[in-house]
Amino acid sequence: MPAAFPLSAVPVADPRHQLEVIRLEGDMPSPVDPPGGCHFHPRCPHAKVGLCDLGRPPSLEAVGAARAAACLRLAELGGVHV
Ligand code: SF4
Repeated sequence: MPAAFPLSAVPVADPRHQLEVIRLEGDMPSPVDPPGGCHFHPRCPHAKVGLCDLGRPPSLEAVGAARAAACLRLAELGGVHV
């Protein structure tokens, strides 16, 4: 799951910091019957029909030294949203 979305909600202990919260549309997917493809695709603003909604969920890949992301468009999006 892209980390930019949950990380946007983490408070910063600096009153001058402008928090830019990314609000996702739609409902949480069912954990007992998750959608096919990337489980996040119904709510992801970067989802691509025919890619993200098909097949198996993406595998976790290293992004830099200390982070990882599971996204089929990771290279295409340049890791911007993770
Ligand atoms: S695989 Fe597709 S739906 Fe899933 S996080 Fe990446 S862009 Fe969004």
